[in-house]
Formats: sequence, C-alpha cells, structure tokens
Amino acid sequence: MCKYMPKDSFNKEEVTIAYFSMEIGLANSMTTYSGGLGILAGDTIKSCSDLNIPLVGVSLLNQEGYFKQVIDAEGNQIEEPDPWEPKDHAELQPEIVSIWIQDKEVKVRAYKREVKGVAGYSIPVYFLDTDFEGNEEQHRSLTRHLYGGDQLYRLAQEIVLGIGGFRMLQALGFKNINKYHLNEGHASFIILELLSKTATDSDLGWQFDPELVKKMCVFTTHTPVAAGHDHFPFETVKSFLGAYFPYNMVEGAVRDGQLNLTRMALLYSGYVNGVAKKHGQITRDMFGDSEIDHITNGVHSVTWTCKSFKMIFDKYIPGWREDPFTLRSAWGIPSEEVWEAHMEAKRKLIAIINEKNEGFSEDVFTIGFARRFTQYKRPNFIFRDEKALKEVISRNGKIQVVFAGKAHPKDFQGKDILKEVFDIAKDPKYKVNVAFLENYDMELAGYLTSGVDIWLNNPQRPMEASGTSGMKAAHNGVPSLSILDGWWIEGHIEGVTGWAIGEEKYRCNDELAEKRELQDFYKKLAMIVKYYYKDRKSWIKIMKDAISINASFFNTHRMVHQYVLNAYFKSGNFTENPVENGVEAANTQ
Ligand SMILES: *Cc1c(COP(=O)(O)O)cnc(C)c1O
Repeated sequence: MCKYMPKDSFNKEEVTIAYFSMEIGLANSMTTYSGGLGILAGDTIKSCSDLNIPLVGVSLLNQEGYFKQVIDAEGNQIEEPDPWEPKDHAELQPEIVSIWIQDKEVKVRAYKREVKGVAGYSIPVYFLDTDFEGNEEQHRSLTRHLYGGDQLYRLAQEIVLGIGGFRMLQALGFKNINKYHLNEGHASFIILELLSKTATDSDLGWQFDPELVKKMCVFTTHTPVAAGHDHFPFETVKSFLGAYFPYNMVEGAVRDGQLNLTRMALLYSGYVNGVAKKHGQITRDMFGDSEIDHITNGVHSVTWTCKSFKMIFDKYIPGWREDPFTLRSAWGIPSEEVWEAHMEAKRKLIAIINEKNEGFSEDVFTIGFARRFTQYKRPNFIFRDEKALKEVISRNGKIQVVFAGKAHPKDFQGKDILKEVFDIAKDPKYKVNVAFLENYDMELAGYLTSGVDIWLNNPQRPMEASGTSGMKAAHNGVPSLSILDGWWIEGHIEGVTGWAIGEEKYRCNDELAEKRELQDFYKKLAMIVKYYYKDRKSWIKIMKDAISINASFFNTHRMVHQYVLNAYFKSGNFTENPVENGVEAANTQ
C-alpha cells in the first residue's frame, strides 16, 4: 500500500495546550496503554476533540505494549509481548530532535495520530520513538516497553517523554503552547527544560523565572500512596541529564538524596489537582499543600456505551454524543427497552465467557470484577467467607461472577491472588459459577462493564484514587456495589445509583475495618440478589438512575470543562509565548 503524508487537519498555530502522559490508550489495537491512567488520557483527548479544545497529546510509542496476559492451566500468569504496528495506526513524522542521556546523543522521532471529534475537530497525538538507526541499542529500547525494565530504564524513558517531548513540539512548529499539562509525575523533567528555556542572560549570569514556569504547568496526580510516586537518586538524575540543567532550582523536591518527581511537579505547577474529591484531600494531607484542588475523573461516553445502549440513547436522547450531560433524561426511556438493551449486552458477554465452556446463563445474576490484580484491590474479597456466600445464594438465588485483570509482572503478591481466584473459579465448593477471562484490555472492558448486572469494587480505603470502570458500567445502566472510596463517594446514592460496602468513616486498612466491610458486603449482597430476582421493575429504575445521575456527570466532557475553566484558564494566560520570547539558553551540551 502506498502511503503518502496527508496534510495536518489541524492548525498548529491554534494549539495552546500540550498534554503529556506516559501512556495514552486510544484504541484497543494500539497497545500503548496498561490500564486506568492511559485510558483516562485517551478518553480526555477524545473529549477534547469533541469539544474543540486546542490541545496536542504527547506520549511514548510503547511499541511492544505492556504485555499480553496468558494464564496457564495452574493459574500462573504468563507475560507475552504485545506489540502493535505504528505505521498501521499513525504516521511517522520527518522531524528528529536530540536529547542527551549520560553524555550520549539520543535521537527522538514521532508518530502522529489524529483523533477526530464528533464535529470533525482534530487533535494530534505524538508518540515518541527512539527505536531507529543512529541510536545505540540501549537507547533504541527506551520506547518499547511500557513500565518495563529497571529504575534507570524508567528514568531514561521519562527524560525522553519530558525533554524529548518538549523539543519535538518545538521542532514540529507548535509555537503557541502556553500550558503544559503533566498527567501524573512521569513527564516532570519538562520543568527543568522550561526553566532553562525561559531563562534570561544578565550580568549576574542566567536568571530563572519560576513564576513563569508555574504559570505554564498544570499537574494532575493520581497516586494516593507516598511510595507510589516516582523518585530517582538526584546524583543519578544529574549524571543522566548532564551539566546543562539548573538543578539548584529543583532542590526543594529532593528528600534523602532522591529527586521526587511529584514534588518537582508540585513546586512548579500553578494548578495541581487530585482525581476525585477525596483524593484531593489525601494529596493535600500527603504533601502539606492546601492549594491542591480536585477534578473528578470521567470516561468518554461514546467510547464506553455499548451498541444496544447507543441505539436507545440515539432514539430517546438525540444529541447525547455531543453533550453527554443530556443523559440525565435517561429516566424517561421505557423500562422494557432499557432491559432489552441490557440483555443484549449480557448475552454478548456470556457468549464470550461460554466459549470456554463456563456454563454461564443469561438468567443468573452476574457480578463483574475487573481491574489490576494487586493486593489493595482485594480481588478475592467476595470469597473471604465461604459460609456467608453460600447462605446468600441458598436464600436469595443463584449468582455467577466474572473476573479479569492483569498483575504487574513484578507484583508477585498480585500474581498469587490471581492464582487464588483462578483456583476458586474451579472449586465447586463455593456453589458459584466463576469465570476468569484472560488479557483484560479495552475491548474486554467494554463487554464486561456493559454485560454484567452489577459492578463490584472492593479496594482497601483510601487506596483508590478515583477508579473509572464503575463509570463505564453506569453508562450501560449497570449499578455499582462498592467500597466508599475514590469516585464512588461522589457517585453513590444508596439504593438509587447502587450500593456501598461499609462506611466512609470506618478506619482504613486494618483488620477490624475489613471485618466490618465483609459483614456489610454479604448483607448487602443478599439484599441485592433478592431484589434482582423479585422486583425487576424497581431494579430497572436503579439502572436508569445510574445512567441519569452518574453517566451524565462522570464523563470526560464534564471533566474537560473543569480542566479548561479551573486549570487552563484560571492559572493565568498569556498572549505571547514565553518560550519564544525568552532568551534561549544553550540548547545542547
Ligand atoms: C477502565 C479500565 C481500567 C481502569 O479501571 P479502574 O476502575 O480504574 O480500575 C483498567 N483497565 C482497563 C482495560 C480499562 O478499560
């Protein structure tokens, strides 16, 4: 096939916001993402394109993906490469920029993919690539593995993202960018680059302008635990980046000899937010910074609404694709049609499950649980009390449970939990039909969040910054049963949009809290199963309320509105590009 380079269908001059993310998940066939963070980034960009927001996305190519999950007969997770073909999804750009890592030149190029919005507005996303001739092998590998390698590999990747990304935007001709949005701390090295690019020469030597850099940076943190924030030995950072950068300007982000990228971003971002109301509070407490705001996550409505619900929304709520706030009127859709749309999605999911002879039935109450397999998410929670679970079933009716999720290759505890759930799935003593679906990805997430009857989430509080899969479920009329953490504190109205497990005021993370949460869980589950089988009419009302109340709000259109008003505009704007007008510090070593 002959490929030519079509003209950009966006105007580079117009673009004023650059969005940096280590992963951006735009399509299932592009395995550039691992999970929540990347899908949120992709959904954000999709909503920006629908809303004509002049933004450009920057990420790494992650050409071999995260990994493809295969589960062997014993329930062990096997990680296989999961590559994608950039040239089938994006266009290689002619521009090449250079960065220096440990005094060696690393050339960076980019593949561009345009994301088209409902009204035809186009947003470019550049995937940075170092895997080409002229680079040393150790540098060629930097844009292959998402979250692979060791700490030094990660450091080098983040230099490619932050500094390579900035230079690529300059080379591509984006001359009017005045906001750099750092989605998580991975791109924080852009701050060092901005400090030097906005420096001015004077008799006293280089003068830096922290206030100007602060005006330019917006930072979104996603991690509610201190240990989860990237940090690197400061000396190693200096030796990787070389003498060029003003390291004295970021000493405030160094603790015990470690440069903490979150702290660096906090120092130099004029606007900082957590990703749910509660997470904003946790971040303020963690960093002792009262200025930190929150903007609760969302999902891209059109992406996460299944076919059958799209059809009834198109019929009863025309315009919902442009304006998902209108989903608030979903309460008016005839109940039979909501139920039929749900059953269509459920049959599709069950067909996928039954390809493996799992014996699932469309008439049985189905619980869905899919997310990263890691200790704090407690995937085996529902099986903690075998007796209580059996009692729920014998008194109220059958249930079946479908699981999916990957464990990070180095999370051995997560892998053990996966194996445990896998073993339980085969153990008849629980009297529950349990299936585990391999290789959780966007496509499977779509089938799961639309095809189950209830979406279960039982993390240890306060570890879930936001969570987004329950929002996807809400778009398909699937209510949640969840711990009061992350977004659910805001989305939960008991018995209206779903149900809570435990109370928000329980203490976090101790045995007593878990015991109370378990007690409450089995009690609620019994009530819910009974309700599902005995009062279908009221059940469907809850399905509709999940859409009206939650899908209409927990979408990335609302989220992007808030970023535009609270983050991009409020933190000060420019008419002139500060990078262009500052005296350029030496660009290279
Ligand atoms: C939505 C999604 C996630 C994130 O879901 P959480 O509820 O935040 O855990 C992770 N992986 C995939 C494949 C998804 O589609």
